[in-house]
Amino acid sequence: MKVMIGALAHESNDFCPHLTTREMFEFYSGDEVARHLPVADIFEEAGVEVIPSIYAAAESYGPVEEQTFLYFEKMILDTVRANPDLDGIWMFCHGAMNVQNIGSGEYRLACDLRALVGENCVISFGMDLHGNLEEDLANQVNIFRCYHTAPHTDQRDTYRRTARALVEYLRYGHRLHPQLRKLPMIFPGEMAATTVEPFKSIIAYMDELERRPEVLCASCYIGFAWTDAARTSSAVAVVPAAPEHEQLCAQLADDLAQRVFARRREFGFEMTALPPRETALASLYELPPPCCVTDMGDNPTAGTTGGGTVLLREYLAAADGKKRVLIAGICDPQAFAVCRAHREGDVFDLSIGMEIDEVTRPVQVRAVCRGCRSVLGYRIASVPPIKRCEAAIVSVGGVDVVITDRAYAFTQKVNFSSCGLDPSSYDVFVTKFGYIFPELKEMGKSFIMSNTPGESYQMITEFNYKKIRRPIYPLDDI
Ligand SMILES: [Zn+2]
Repeated sequence: MKVMIGALAHESNDFCPHLTTREMFEFYSGDEVARHLPVADIFEEAGVEVIPSIYAAAESYGPVEEQTFLYFEKMILDTVRANPDLDGIWMFCHGAMNVQNIGSGEYRLACDLRALVGENCVISFGMDLHGNLEEDLANQVNIFRCYHTAPHTDQRDTYRRTARALVEYLRYGHRLHPQLRKLPMIFPGEMAATTVEPFKSIIAYMDELERRPEVLCASCYIGFAWTDAARTSSAVAVVPAAPEHEQLCAQLADDLAQRVFARRREFGFEMTALPPRETALASLYELPPPCCVTDMGDNPTAGTTGGGTVLLREYLAAADGKKRVLIAGICDPQAFAVCRAHREGDVFDLSIGMEIDEVTRPVQVRAVCRGCRSVLGYRIASVPPIKRCEAAIVSVGGVDVVITDRAYAFTQKVNFSSCGLDPSSYDVFVTKFGYIFPELKEMGKSFIMSNTPGESYQMITEFNYKKIRRPIYPLDDI
């Protein structure tokens, strides 16, 4: 038997003013594909031949440019055309890819794949829980399942579970479909961490479901609030293990949908959330150091520009010079280039801020150059870290600022250590992220999720959504 594997993944923020283009994708083809998707051994052990297509995934940003999507999709479809005897297809698809003029990238890909392979080929998707699923996706794809962790630490488990489920379907000749239920609710991811209630016990319940022999996968897609589309919403899905369990799984999906929706009012921030000024004052003068602060409104992993200077301004105004603050990082390619032209120890005037909008308004500082470094990071914990961006470090009084050449969220110890920085030597360290990633939890003694303005602003009830299907909680009081 033959299975094609690949990835086409993006989380697209509609409120980001720029498109995501081809050069922004991390791209692999040939043997490299299997190295980045930990599933090939599952197929090989089952005696299934693996045909790689492509791996194309970009950091979250604005909607994907139409030609870019079509360019990558064509490579995948061409691989299918070259292998007309495929028995299965396994893909990593995020679930929140929004393509210019097309809409859901995953849905379009699923439909085009199905049209090519017909009903006999089994299609399985490993997905992120921040996906907004088209209702009809469940008719195109046989198996899908999303992560059971947010912040995400179980990507590998999800990919492997959906690959094993594909092998099961092939072994027994099943051609079933997931039982998908859309829910009229949507939250920013930061209000739905799986480490706290109510999501924690929802996940525990889904883990229980997955231990049942009748169920292969159970998922709760929390959705992606910064896409304005009719499909923007949460959803649950249950994948039956065999045809005789289809009806039971339909009931389990109904029950899961009801359980999740019943707890909608309990979703909230995992840690103290404060406005920017209160964040600066509390983190500097009230909480035990080091205080880890996340700049929630400008979270590049949710597709923002990563150039927000709001918290920099607050700390420059509030810091007394004795406290040590680290801001990691602010994306500003121009400021980065200015810093790179200097040597360590140079003192110079610097403008930090890309001036796209009020959030990225430039700040003029007198900076001391602390050098330039490559920032290393990993995408999946089991794969060694690679270079994510370039950074210049400058000191402005007691405030150290990491200026990056592209948007990047510092969440891993290796992000900091590769820049020669130790967050524990600061009173406060700020990162452009939303919830408190597990490694941030290890680095901080206290935490504030700062409710800053930006394209991933958490107060979604204030957004002017145009296409989202109403009524939906919390935009409507249902
Ligand atoms: Zn996610």
